[in-house]
Amino acid sequence: MKYDISITKTTTPKEKPTDESKLGFGTIFTDHMFMMDYSAGKGWYNARIIPFGPIAIHPASTVLHYGAEIFEGLKAYRAADGTIRMFRPMENIQRLNRSAERLCLPELDEEGALDILNTMVELEKDWVPHSEGTSLYIRPFMYGNDPHLGVHAVKEATFVVICSPVGAYYPEGLNPVKIAIEAHDVRAVRGGTGYAKCGGNYAASLRAGEKAEKKGYTQVLWLDGVEQKYIEEVGAMNVMFKIGGKIVTPALDSGSILPGITRKSCLELLQDWGFEVEERKISVDELFAAAASGALEEAWGTGTAAVVSPIGQLYYQDTSYTLCGGKIGQTAQKLYDNLTGIQWGKLADTHGWSHIVCNG
Ligand SMILES: *Cc1c(COP(=O)(O)O)cnc(C)c1O
Repeated sequence: MKYDISITKTTTPKEKPTDESKLGFGTIFTDHMFMMDYSAGKGWYNARIIPFGPIAIHPASTVLHYGAEIFEGLKAYRAADGTIRMFRPMENIQRLNRSAERLCLPELDEEGALDILNTMVELEKDWVPHSEGTSLYIRPFMYGNDPHLGVHAVKEATFVVICSPVGAYYPEGLNPVKIAIEAHDVRAVRGGTGYAKCGGNYAASLRAGEKAEKKGYTQVLWLDGVEQKYIEEVGAMNVMFKIGGKIVTPALDSGSILPGITRKSCLELLQDWGFEVEERKISVDELFAAAASGALEEAWGTGTAAVVSPIGQLYYQDTSYTLCGGKIGQTAQKLYDNLTGIQWGKLADTHGWSHIVCNG
């Protein structure tokens, strides 16, 4: 079911950025945004694309007081054949609906949501940058918008999509990062909201990130919230290890780990290539024992923004290990090359992951 989208085009289009090497991440926005409102009993209504601009919000709005917010992140690419494509967008839509269910926000019709993304990307297609490694980042988000302070499931909500041309994540090639394992703060707990992509998870993770940065580390590696023993995620990415030739990644069944689409895609590729893949619990003790014995060959994070982020150093309490000589491992590099190759239409898309939106 498609939503009936009205389109009001801007009368004052902005200049597109000319120097694509300075795009950065999420600071420049396109000319339009999508908005749609929800009211219990009425459902979703007033689907509209309007000029990009500030959103007026009631001071008592649920999102401002109780954090009822969920989001997604995906990219549109200018492919080698001139088409504009999104990568597995239905996965993002289904995950958004699972996040909505967890936070008592209203779900979207899947086909309708895909049509919204297609319509927005096609309208903004001239904003998809051309240089190698660049893309149009698409940020759908939804918030509870009841105009009163009572604490209960929301009856009113708003769904918004904004788009931002973003630069190459690794202008100088893949760069291994230094990671600190966080021994105090936790990101998510069993029964909590870890598997949902909600703003509150990020708010609660900022302090540990700041602390790690001050010590010279790029990201935090999170441990489970119950025993603080098992590896969960790295920053806002999923994490994978290559130990004694096998691929090991934390299992999703605790509900405290975000089921990444990049994670899922990497696991599918690794299996295609004949790797043995284990989705299971992995403790810091096991990881550091493997590092000490030399069995830990590689570690990397996976996520839409960076695709693959090799880990060059791991630090926990008083111990620190350099992995893979601080260099990019072969497996991480191969995953990066293959995933981005499929995304940019340079390699055959045997899994049917690319969704063509329009001609560029
Ligand atoms: C978005 C996100 C990821 C990565 O998910 P992708 O679908 O691969 O982009 C991993 N962990 C957290 C906490 C996230 O928010």
